[in-house]
Amino acid sequence: MLSIVIDEEKCSGCALCVEGCFVPCLALDESKKKAVVVDRDGCLVCRTCEDVCRSKAIKIVFADWPGFPQDRISRVL
Ligand code: SF4
Ligand code: SF4
Repeated sequence: MLSIVIDEEKCSGCALCVEGCFVPCLALDESKKKAVVVDRDGCLVCRTCEDVCRSKAIKIVFADWPGFPQDRISRVL
């Protein structure tokens, strides 16, 4: 299953991923100043959000591939 994982400790709330996602799957939680997922199922796996995030706080991963290195998944897709 596809997961959009946001590391809240790394997320600066810059909203670049929100602006870059044209679905949109992401939004900014104004109270927490963190990106949040609002439509995981609409994700096109374009990886724009990963590319624009300067904090490396967001990753697209496939949670049902147990044991497969998540960093490698990001590279091969
Ligand atoms: S681009 Fe990265 S740091 Fe900025 S809001 Fe999105 S996840 Fe957070
Ligand atoms: S991979 Fe593309 S469609 Fe999916 S959340 Fe990131 S920017 Fe949006």
